Amino acid sequence: NHLNFSGGPGALPESVLLQVQQSIIAVPEVGLSILGISHRSDWFASVVAELEGNIRELMGLPEDFHVLFLQGGATQQFSMIPMTLLRGKPHPAEYLHTGYWSGKALAEARREGAIRVLWSGEASGFRRLPGDEELAYSPDAPYLHYISNETVEGLQFHRVLGRDDVPRVCDMSSDFLSQPCEAERYSLIYAHAQKNIGPAGVTVVLVRDGVLKNAPADLPGFLDYRSHAQAHSIFNTPPVFAIYVVLLITRWLRNEIGGLSRMAEINRSKAGLMYRRLDDSHGFYRGRAETQDRSLMNVTFNLATPELEQRFLAAAQAAGFSGLSGHRSTGGIRASLYNGLTLSAVEQLTGFMEDFQRKAG
Ligand code: PLP
Repeated sequence: NHLNFSGGPGALPESVLLQVQQSIIAVPEVGLSILGISHRSDWFASVVAELEGNIRELMGLPEDFHVLFLQGGATQQFSMIPMTLLRGKPHPAEYLHTGYWSGKALAEARREGAIRVLWSGEASGFRRLPGDEELAYSPDAPYLHYISNETVEGLQFHRVLGRDDVPRVCDMSSDFLSQPCEAERYSLIYAHAQKNIGPAGVTVVLVRDGVLKNAPADLPGFLDYRSHAQAHSIFNTPPVFAIYVVLLITRWLRNEIGGLSRMAEINRSKAGLMYRRLDDSHGFYRGRAETQDRSLMNVTFNLATPELEQRFLAAAQAAGFSGLSGHRSTGGIRASLYNGLTLSAVEQLTGFMEDFQRKAG
């Protein structure tokens, strides 16, 4: 089997995959395939309830958060957020433009109302994130939006941004449940499920009740968080399979890993190994992100020429390392180290990289 370093569908833990395999034939408690269990069954309601409880416990969520399991990916949140929080507001919402995905988010927000781009790394090729001294937040903004981990560029904020009197809205799609995150400081957190927590099809939204109280009254039902909150995420047919896999992942995080602090330690070890390999390569492997903003999830780098990168990717693929090519917008190499990827997989990759360098040099 290949090791999965893809930035898109991430590696999931083997123990979870084995349970998923079993559940396709029959979920043990039910005696039916997960693909054929009704979303209106008591069992599925208990899946949603347990999953919600696990996320609350893992993240230490305050009581006033709703935990919602939606569809439409993180992309639908790019629109639902400004529909809920920006429409009809006298002041612009503030957005950080730190990479490919925040560019998509702010373009969608512009369709709903005025936004102010507080900082953009576009001119400098998205190789770093802003320091606090570069960010002049306004107290009047209806909210601040940023992405905690830019999946494509491999840039991660290692602090919480913004002011306490302006709601913080954060896309955590690619670092959700990879470390503790001070959830109590946010008003809305969202993450799609194709990275750390399961297969595509479900998007987790954590939103404070106060945000919903002030939402416009005329939103389409499906695009109104209140519909989903009232229906406990079963407003229409939900992605039963994807939600079940996310439940198994949260059980794994609680029972096998032992919580998010422990998960963060493992993730730091994995990223540490990779960045050491880059730094010790004397410029053979060139890290893309500035050191202080390096992502623990997506390690992006280049080799001297595109030809050498192609040779590297072909050799890596042949050696059983999959998904290492960079995003189509940036090229280069990206090794994604999501929760399910083991330290041993990273050790094998860094060993391969050392070998490749020796042979190429
Ligand atoms: N935000 C981030 C940080 C992402 O990494 C991605 C996809 O990789 C998205 C948003 C878009 O997510 P989706 O394809 O689920 O709409």
